[in-house]
Amino acid sequence: MSSVTSGPRKLYVKSYGCQMNVYDSQRMADVLAREGYVETAEPDDADVLVLNTCHIREKAAEKVYSELGRLRRLKQDAARDGRRLTVAVAGCVAQAEGEEIIRRAPVVDLVVGPQSYHRLPDLVARAAREGRVVDTEFPAEDKFDHLAPPTAAATRARGAAAFVTVQEGCDKFCTFCVVPYTRGAEFSRPVARIVDEVARLAEAGVREIRLIGQNVNAWHGEGPDGRPWTLSRLLHRLAEVPGVARLRYTTSHPCDMDDELIAAHGDLPALMPQLHLPVQSGATRVLAAMNRRHDRAAYLSVIARLKAARPDIALSSDFIVGFPGETEAEFRDTLALVDEVGFASAYSFKYSPRPGTPAAESDAQVSEAEKADRLARLQAAIDRNAAAFNAATVGRTGAVLFEHPGKHPGQMVGRSPWMQPVQVDGPATLAGTIATVRFTATGTNSLFGTLVDAAPRDAATSPHSASPGMAPVRGNAVHVAAAGR
Ligand code: SAM
Ligand code: SF4
Repeated sequence: MSSVTSGPRKLYVKSYGCQMNVYDSQRMADVLAREGYVETAEPDDADVLVLNTCHIREKAAEKVYSELGRLRRLKQDAARDGRRLTVAVAGCVAQAEGEEIIRRAPVVDLVVGPQSYHRLPDLVARAAREGRVVDTEFPAEDKFDHLAPPTAAATRARGAAAFVTVQEGCDKFCTFCVVPYTRGAEFSRPVARIVDEVARLAEAGVREIRLIGQNVNAWHGEGPDGRPWTLSRLLHRLAEVPGVARLRYTTSHPCDMDDELIAAHGDLPALMPQLHLPVQSGATRVLAAMNRRHDRAAYLSVIARLKAARPDIALSSDFIVGFPGETEAEFRDTLALVDEVGFASAYSFKYSPRPGTPAAESDAQVSEAEKADRLARLQAAIDRNAAAFNAATVGRTGAVLFEHPGKHPGQMVGRSPWMQPVQVDGPATLAGTIATVRFTATGTNSLFGTLVDAAPRDAATSPHSASPGMAPVRGNAVHVAAAGR
């Protein structure tokens, strides 16, 4: 239990769900840092505690309410110590449920939707004064123009790979999905803003930029010439930013994989040979019922073109099992597609009816038992393919971006070009640098390797190679809830 302290006010942020939420959590920390808040790793130390929530599946939303139940105690303890703990709920549950959250969980002082994070300092001050503040508007102003950039020290503390949101929202309206309702219409940030943000990150020692968006390959931001650019053109521009060694982007929709973007996987060396391209189902009838706007053959054609452009590309995907009306034969189409593509990894989910979405209204819901059975069979197929992909990497060499120390002394962990975690014996000074590794064996969803060159591979080519003070990625004070993505 903590006692009354007079130091800086402390902030604890816990992030659920997708990478967009991790990015948003960091922006919330940055905007509150300007007001003198410092991040703490201990929730019971916090003056402001933010849960940045996910609404994509029922389980994800319910987790937030269980956590809020536990926070009642923390708030009482703080009050007993003469401190006020302000509890805020942000993210997609905040957007979808608004005031209902305060009704269900009176411990909450502030409910703030994803489009209002730039107003957080005011909202937190109001909540501390008055309690019960709700802001879930979609303001006309662009929140990105008002969000504070991180300091170089905060960037370094977050590690050598950084997310940059380039696109938000979705206009696709898949029949199972809440995103168009919680995140609103599609919006693309302009090129100049993205380049500035990436340059600042690279200047602070970030080597890998991961562009993120709910539909990142639908990005079409305004270029310096006043015309919309394509994502491929943006990637080529970002590869020119000094210090940027690696680029990735996620999450993409198959319909927005245009020829230019596919070609970039072959001709842009900084673009890593890896792509997350959700398909959801391998059955054309189910894809139509989901309103995915492509069939099985069109997905496989995109995959074939990607493999032609970059034969070693590591492909991953999202799958939903037990979508309303899905038959056993249709589910087997999904199993067959997993083997046909040979995914390096994939996420799979039981269909979860979300209030307000068309599929939730269907009276052809699949039973829980059937969903559980299909999920287990799908996960076995995915694991088999992932193990085969990892095994095929053994014996090769590749550039690894080192992130943090491993579990054992003298061990360092990084990411391969194909996104696998890689463990090697090496000095802590590897953190934040790229070195060539020979992959020697597979672990559980990871690789073991040995360093090929003693000096970091990029030492000769980059002014940022030393990355002074680059902290392990795990040093990040934004806490990511274990189960979600
Ligand atoms: N925009 C991306 C796309 O179109 O593929 C996906 C974004 S969504 C945040 C991430 C994943 O959550 C989806 O790909 C889908 O597999 C899963 N998902 C979304 N709604 C779901 C639902 N109602 N039940 C189960 N899984 C769901
Ligand atoms: Fe949801 Fe992705 Fe479909 Fe948009 S494209 S509605 S974010 S699943």
